[in-house]
Amino acid sequence: MSVDVNEDISESTGTGRPDFDVVVVGAGMAGLYLLYRLRHLGLSAVALEAADDVGGTWYWNRYPGARCDIQSIDYSYSFDPELESEWEWSEKYATQPEILRYLQFVADKHDLRRDIRFSTRVGAAKWDDASSMWRVRTDAGAEVTCRHYVMATGCLSMPKGPEIRGAERFAGPVYFTSRWPHDGVDFTGLRVGVIGTGSSGIQSIPIIASQASELTVFQRTPNFSMPAGNGPIPEQKLAAIAADPEAYRREARLSGAGVPMPKPTVGALQVSEAERLEAFERVWRQGELLAVNSEFNDLSIRREANDTFAEFIRNKIRSTVHDRETAETLCPTDHPVGSKRPCLDTNYYETFNLPHVRLVDLRKDPISTITETGIDTSNESFEFDVIVYATGFDAMTGALVAVDIEGRDGVTLKDKWAAGPRTYLGLTTVGFPNFFMVTGPGSPSVLSNMVVSIEQHVDWITDCVSDLRDRGYTTIEPTETAEAGWVQHVNDCADITLFPSANSWYMGANVPGKPRVFLPYVGGVGPYRITCDRVVDEGYLGFRLAGDAGTQCHDGVVNRLQPDVAMLLQTLAELGLPPLESLPVPEARAFNEAISAQRPPGPEVGDVADGTLPGAEGELNYRIYRPATPGPHPIVVYFHGGGWVLGSHVSDEPLCRDLCVRSGALIVSVDYRHGPETRFPAAANDAIAAVYWVAANAESLGGAPGGLAVAGWSAGGNLAAVACQQARWAGEPEIVGQLLIAPATDGASEWPSMAENAEGYALTASLMDWFWNNYADPADRSDAKASPLRAESLAGLPRAAIFTCEFDPLRDEGDAYAAALVAAGVDVEHVQCRGHIHTSLHAVDVIISGAPLRARMAAAIQGFFRSPNAT
Ligand code: FAD
Ligand code: NAP
Repeated sequence: MSVDVNEDISESTGTGRPDFDVVVVGAGMAGLYLLYRLRHLGLSAVALEAADDVGGTWYWNRYPGARCDIQSIDYSYSFDPELESEWEWSEKYATQPEILRYLQFVADKHDLRRDIRFSTRVGAAKWDDASSMWRVRTDAGAEVTCRHYVMATGCLSMPKGPEIRGAERFAGPVYFTSRWPHDGVDFTGLRVGVIGTGSSGIQSIPIIASQASELTVFQRTPNFSMPAGNGPIPEQKLAAIAADPEAYRREARLSGAGVPMPKPTVGALQVSEAERLEAFERVWRQGELLAVNSEFNDLSIRREANDTFAEFIRNKIRSTVHDRETAETLCPTDHPVGSKRPCLDTNYYETFNLPHVRLVDLRKDPISTITETGIDTSNESFEFDVIVYATGFDAMTGALVAVDIEGRDGVTLKDKWAAGPRTYLGLTTVGFPNFFMVTGPGSPSVLSNMVVSIEQHVDWITDCVSDLRDRGYTTIEPTETAEAGWVQHVNDCADITLFPSANSWYMGANVPGKPRVFLPYVGGVGPYRITCDRVVDEGYLGFRLAGDAGTQCHDGVVNRLQPDVAMLLQTLAELGLPPLESLPVPEARAFNEAISAQRPPGPEVGDVADGTLPGAEGELNYRIYRPATPGPHPIVVYFHGGGWVLGSHVSDEPLCRDLCVRSGALIVSVDYRHGPETRFPAAANDAIAAVYWVAANAESLGGAPGGLAVAGWSAGGNLAAVACQQARWAGEPEIVGQLLIAPATDGASEWPSMAENAEGYALTASLMDWFWNNYADPADRSDAKASPLRAESLAGLPRAAIFTCEFDPLRDEGDAYAAALVAAGVDVEHVQCRGHIHTSLHAVDVIISGAPLRARMAAAIQGFFRSPNAT
């Protein structure tokens, strides 16, 4: 259908039916593919585009040196296999004119222009609830109606103002990289000032320098940049695609960032310095932004690892730029590599060796005003013929909220997002039915090869619209629960990375007044795709559908596990390990030890020493972890986990070290006898004996006088709780606090969490069953020494910090113990660890999202010793 949207067509047709199934805003890479797909699904559509041609980013950003920085062969559509043989990229990183020609070629090949209205800017869109359609209004005042409304307006399409005093005063020509004149700019013989050193500045500066008589670059924040090494498309890449094009594209779709890359297996600090530097050199020579993520798996999550790469790049800058002060000014030091979008360049750093090029450090000498003839900084006046702004974009949300989009009940998108965007999957948002965003906030978008992300979103949206039509649904809208869960998940993912530590446009920090929220989704292109597909497979989980077919709502949250926990479980599932309970006990123990040997060791402590102490019936081993600070220290007696069957005084070493360092307490990790060789109550009796002995010998161990605390994880949490009860009944020794981490407290009944989390979360119901069977006879399990929850009275027990995990079979019994202690008048800090599993809190340096929880445990330990015992 072809409609002139410059006329008020809905009034003219007056049918009560929308003019189009879908209105698309934007005719960049996303808008073009949307039109193609919608047409093939038999849906009527029009695209409204502010520019006078297709191309989006590649239409507007025509500055000298503009190129892609994902290899062209990857940065191209995959939906049309024919296109891959029809179009040949001339180099590894194609120029803007070549990419624009490519998009024009696609538009022509598929005759897409006939459904695009150019030079048409959308100013407003309003949801009409009565007719279940959107009324979309152009700046020229025309209205078009549609059932579904898709913003394909781009993440980096709304240029950011210069926000510099006096900007309007300059009398000479002013250019923005993001709105470059179509007939180009000749800088020959001109004095040029460039403001901004992001990707656009870094690409254009060397070319402007090659023409200008004088070039002054005003830098606020230096960026990390690597040489692009542009040239012919690498043979290896061509061969990989030629071997199996479909497999290559599939790998891209399931990869982390939309480009097939080997997965790294080591961290940067797990190899020698020589190996690390060799890897960084490889990356530097390769000229590919994502290459470093194939070498090491911890650069975006561990600051110390990241620092090694940052210093490598700084050394490259120092060895390239001759003037020492200029080199240091170009060295980024205020953010981790990758936390702001890194750049690829051609001779960027070398440009500063040219005699007519100068760098001004705005951190030391900020701009005070732009004048009629140039730029004044606090120390100097500069005269220019031309000023170039490479100052970037109001990214990800700018183009969306620039349109006055009004959803249900008169709420606008701008108002809804005043504190930061809230979306479900980065595709939809509550209160805006039938409204979709391509690469919206909360999706991988700008953290990926965007073509791959665009195609995935377009496929999802168009499949959804056609599915609704086929099944008789008129509207789709996400639920509050689903959206809140997704926002939480997006933040959980960001929080385990270094991204939030930088003042980047990813965080909205480049636009004054914009809320500081991490905008894209860092969970990876492949996992994200799987999530989106799962939402559909689970009956549009988290969406409400309505129409002639009735209403449907399968409400829920799609990703509830902490992201690193999900990754760990995925890795474990891929390893296909045998269930521990299927092994004879000695083999299960050996297996458990072998796995433990491979984990990170935990932080350095002041001192580690081993010894033995008298248990209930013989010697027990212990290991003591002393803080590096001068003693005496508060003492914590710690009991390891392992279901009373596995483990030893050293098996929870990383956690003991972590608690020691964080709390400043001395941790004595004590062994005890295990089942099935010595069954209940041997372990409990040993635990009690150990507490007595440590209390009696506190001073010689380096402990501070005045009571000790107990702690334990899992079965160790059970023993710690039991020891507190026994000490209270005996009247000694003095225990000032109990830290119970995912404790087993009740072996005599089955709690709902046991069935809910029976499988798939590391500790299974059947393993727990095996543990209990090896430890205690069913008849003994209601004894308080086995099940502390069963004690007749919990009054007078020491204050407690109890950490329970959402996806743990033991969750409910831990929660019940906390509640019972509170009911008995005990001072309890009860922390319910959202998205965690039984083994999360114990996995130091593996489950990063557990770190803040371990910090709370340490604070609880400190609290035990600060305030008086609750007894
Ligand atoms: P866009 O290309 O931004 O198109 C959006 C279109 O919507 C524009 O044409 C705009 O005019 C139109 N529009 C917006 N608002 C309205 C309105 N209200 N009414 C009508 N029309 C409107 N990504 C990579 O993955 N690799 C790269 O190498 C890469 N290089 C880049 C280089 C530059 C200089 C920039 C700025 C971005 C780069 N990107 C890169 C990101 C790039 O934006 C995406 O890869 C991709 O081109 C986005 O396509 P899109 O169709 O989603 O949005
Ligand atoms: P950008 O990365 O946001 O860089 C803008 C630069 O301008 C920054 O150095 C910024 O400094 C500076 N700046 C902004 N306002 C300023 C002010 N008032 N005074 C002084 N300096 C100011 O923008 P961009 O370079 O256009 O790139 C945006 C994104 O587009 C990139 O990150 C990338 O995703 C994409 N892109 C890709 C390519 C490519 O190679 N394919 C090329 C261009 C763009 P601060 O850092 O201090 O804010």
